[in-house]
Amino acid sequence: MENRTVRVRFAPSPTGPLHIGGVRTALYNYLFARQHGGKMVFRIEDTDSQRFVPGAEEYIIESFKWLGIEFDEGVSYGGDKGPYRQSERREIYKKYVDQLLAEDKAYIAFDTPEELDAKRAEKENFQYDATTRGEMRNSLTMPADEVQALIAAGTQYVVRFKIQPGEDIHVDDMIRGDVKINSTILDDKVLYKSADQLPTYHLANIVDDHLMEITHVIRGEEWLPSAPLHVLLYRAFGWQDTMPRFAHLPLLLKPDGKGKLSKRDGDRLGFPVFPLEWHAADGTISSGYRESGYLPEAVVNFLALLGWNPGTDQEILSMQELIEQFDLAKCSKAGAKFDYVKGQWFNREYIQSADNAVLAQDFDKILRENGIEAPIEKVEAVVAMMKMKKINFIKELWPLCDFFFIAPQTFDKEDKFIRKNWKDNAPQEMQALIELLEGLEDFSADAQRKAIDAWVEATGVKPWNAWRVMLVGAGKGPDMHDLAEFLGKEETLRRMRFALEALA
Ligand code: GLU
Repeated sequence: MENRTVRVRFAPSPTGPLHIGGVRTALYNYLFARQHGGKMVFRIEDTDSQRFVPGAEEYIIESFKWLGIEFDEGVSYGGDKGPYRQSERREIYKKYVDQLLAEDKAYIAFDTPEELDAKRAEKENFQYDATTRGEMRNSLTMPADEVQALIAAGTQYVVRFKIQPGEDIHVDDMIRGDVKINSTILDDKVLYKSADQLPTYHLANIVDDHLMEITHVIRGEEWLPSAPLHVLLYRAFGWQDTMPRFAHLPLLLKPDGKGKLSKRDGDRLGFPVFPLEWHAADGTISSGYRESGYLPEAVVNFLALLGWNPGTDQEILSMQELIEQFDLAKCSKAGAKFDYVKGQWFNREYIQSADNAVLAQDFDKILRENGIEAPIEKVEAVVAMMKMKKINFIKELWPLCDFFFIAPQTFDKEDKFIRKNWKDNAPQEMQALIELLEGLEDFSADAQRKAIDAWVEATGVKPWNAWRVMLVGAGKGPDMHDLAEFLGKEETLRRMRFALEALA
């Protein structure tokens, strides 16, 4: 067991968009696999046809591409242990269901939903188990020929796992240690349904983890109650020696108050709970991290620290650093508060260190939405000047940067900034500045700075704020020389002359 190559899997059911908690689960699997030089498998668990949602599988694949979480094998990736979509593995499961039946570890049950409801109404806390299975319509209580006759006649049935009561079952969890549960509380779980000729989650999950040689099952805490049953299934098949090790990750909790993080929390507080925007069949749209302007690296870093931390003060960790430092055994047992404000902080940090050319692509889209078409070098220059202005998202740059692309048209003399900085002597001083700038051959920020500094030195004029009134029309923007260089000599002088008239 210890010498086996690490193989993990992420096995979502395609029932809708991937929840951010699922993204964290996949990320931890990825970090663990990479750290151990192992492989990561992408399996689609689509045995519940009732809950199948078209487009969900493609959505999940696209999400991981965006986040930079790479699988080695599986649906859309290929590999020699496929097919990796459970709905394409019917014959494989059937064989294992038959094996359990032949070995008397499972049995066939014909109870209809109405019969089960009636039983529940009659008996409080009814559970299909060792104490009740003798009262039900199944292959343990009915003669074999009757069972065969019903099946031959096409009667619907299920296969149930025969759980022996009164035994302590141990789940060895890498995060939680030894989790003990008594088998008496378990019910005889349905493993297979004749109606759709498909196994249920439990059987398919165990058979596939075995056949795909999975060594570690890292998944959300909500699956911990299923783990004892899974241990029993491994044993029933005689696979206990290669049973994967379990790690059940802590829940993601509401940012405020108690309880599990839900989509409603996101709607209420204004943050996405899905990696990408999701368009549901009924026309509703749910926001995504990508469309909301998060950088994938920021999302990865933020999620990695929800339930684990490196034990140092370091908060900004690249994927490579995460792979090196991640430690499954040091994940917390307690749930992790989903501090979405911290998520925004991560985005701000990543924006500041991101490549300007990459950010320019994002900002260019926002400019176009606002009717601005500018050469990409110009867009990049603005990003470089302005991204440090404490923005969480690139879209926040637009109101801070509109004047780069749109000259002020009107000047409100009651505006606080203008009133304060457009004094009586401003027209005269600015006329002098216009003349000085007209004389400059080299209009680079450095050349302007040199010439203007000398003029300031000689005259005592402080031109900066009045100049800003003319070029920006408001108290915002970068260093004036950088701005004038960006606008160029012609546009700078045009704006200045226009302002002189408008403010006269
Ligand atoms: N199909 C399950 C899910 O949707 C997989 C649970 C597991 O990892 O065992 O999350």
